[in-house]
Amino acid sequence: MNLLEGIAASSGIAIAKAYRLVEPDLSFTKKTVENVTAEVERFQSALAVSIEELEAIKLSAEKDLGTEDGAIFGAHILVLKDPELISSIESKIKEDKVNAEYALSETSDMFIAMFEAMDNEYMRERAADIRDVMKRVLSHLLGVSVMSPSEISEEVIVIAEDLTPSDTAQLNRKYVKGFTTDIGGRTSHSAIMARSLEIPAVVGTGEATTSIQDGDMIIVDGLNGKIHINPTAELLAEYEDEYKKYEVQKAEWAKLVDEKTLTADGNHVELAANIGTPEDLVGVNNNGGEAIGLYRTEFLYMGRDQLPTEEEQFEAYKKVLQGMDGKPVVVRTLDIGGDKELPYLNLPKEMNPFLGFRAIRLCLEETEIFRTQLRALLRASTFGNLKIMFPMIATLGEFRQAKAMLEEERVALEATGTTIAEKIEVGIMVEIPSTAVLADQFAKEVDFFSIGTNDLIQYTMAADRMNERVSYLYQPYNPAILRLVKMVIDASHREGKWTGMCGEMAGDEIAIPLLLGLGLDEFSMSATSILKARAQIKTLNQKDMAALVEEALQMGTAEEVVELVKKTCN
Ligand code: PEP
Ligand code: MG
Repeated sequence: MNLLEGIAASSGIAIAKAYRLVEPDLSFTKKTVENVTAEVERFQSALAVSIEELEAIKLSAEKDLGTEDGAIFGAHILVLKDPELISSIESKIKEDKVNAEYALSETSDMFIAMFEAMDNEYMRERAADIRDVMKRVLSHLLGVSVMSPSEISEEVIVIAEDLTPSDTAQLNRKYVKGFTTDIGGRTSHSAIMARSLEIPAVVGTGEATTSIQDGDMIIVDGLNGKIHINPTAELLAEYEDEYKKYEVQKAEWAKLVDEKTLTADGNHVELAANIGTPEDLVGVNNNGGEAIGLYRTEFLYMGRDQLPTEEEQFEAYKKVLQGMDGKPVVVRTLDIGGDKELPYLNLPKEMNPFLGFRAIRLCLEETEIFRTQLRALLRASTFGNLKIMFPMIATLGEFRQAKAMLEEERVALEATGTTIAEKIEVGIMVEIPSTAVLADQFAKEVDFFSIGTNDLIQYTMAADRMNERVSYLYQPYNPAILRLVKMVIDASHREGKWTGMCGEMAGDEIAIPLLLGLGLDEFSMSATSILKARAQIKTLNQKDMAALVEEALQMGTAEEVVELVKKTCN
């Protein structure tokens, strides 16, 4: 099959060779060996190749990603040079007359268990290093290759079953031109990251990893959700043309970078950006972001093997606040869970992670994790215009508890002489239907709302945002969703508060006219969607949009709403 269809997750067109990022099969059986000297030599040469590989990766990681990332590989090399570990493996081969694969895995499991049981955080981290590098040596013994996103060093299209947010964070933009996955939807976190990294992506193709071989020529059409495998010269030329047209269009939008976002009848709405790391600020400023509407702080906690310290967090928050130079920055407290895991917290597996022990629920239990983050935020507050937002709030009780902890930390810090900004707005994400329905009560206590439609839609429609088979139920234009959004906006306005939206719906061109009509105050989206949204909003009249949405709210289906918007706004 030369064409795969999926969900257009990040716009743009990319053309390059395929690079399959798939979990290798590292299974083996225990064998008795007669020639133990030859077996030890086989182990030693797998070890040597692994060290050589790691040295090369370390060099290129230092060059492309910085010395900190390179240091991870330095620690891995040290493991492979550890005399105690290596001689234990060799002795096992010799004494038990077993194959190198078996000796390696038995011995390293023993070392891992020993390190994991230690009381010392640093030692526990070494367990993860051993696991990682032993996988590499084992793969050489078995003759299979192990891929890792940070090792990519030429222009490629990454093909994967799924990409975890930490895999996505490691993708090097210089080389990864696009990606496609078997599973995932428009609001899965790999898709969201792809948009902020400006990497064209198509997710949920169902069979990318089974249909595509390493080295196949691939076109990622992130505008229409298509993947072409080994295209004809004619199709390739067509896409090269398409790519140029898209670049021209982007240059047109770029002219709006310093403009305010005004509707045709002169009303201002705020176009803000969603970010995952301080590095994303470059994109926000290049795209004329007027604020940060959502800083997903969980990425600070991911792709590592221990919690970030208060100091590390303070530095990151300070950097973002300073980088925005007094413009509003909404920082969301830790929202872990769902498809964002933290293996080092060793939380038990759950049947329904999206409905489980996550986000504020976890923070209210694991209070030291939460309080550390709150302290870092409070300390950073004097460096800009900070607003704090709690995720996944389902009850007023949760909000009150979280806010009380914030106040306690403020009092404690002030007692030590720390200066903290006098006024910090404290708001919540509205992403659980109970909170949307009860917005009138919440509005009396919170300073603002930010509607998280990625989750609000998944919970309202009972459709897993990661499951491409139910992705047709991701229906931002469904009148049921529009009515919930209206309840929230109206409730906030009655109390003199404001409402933003930081789910993907805020940057959607069909949704924008409806949201303008509903009176949404702030639209927060991937930075790369801002200029296009600004261009669109300039052409829309708020009064007309209010009439349009009145009509939409009375409709029965999402399809009717789409038709109405297209008819009115084209
Ligand atoms: C949302 O749920 O809409 C949201 C913005 O949060 P996240 O996508 O990080 O769950
Ligand atoms: Mg959410």
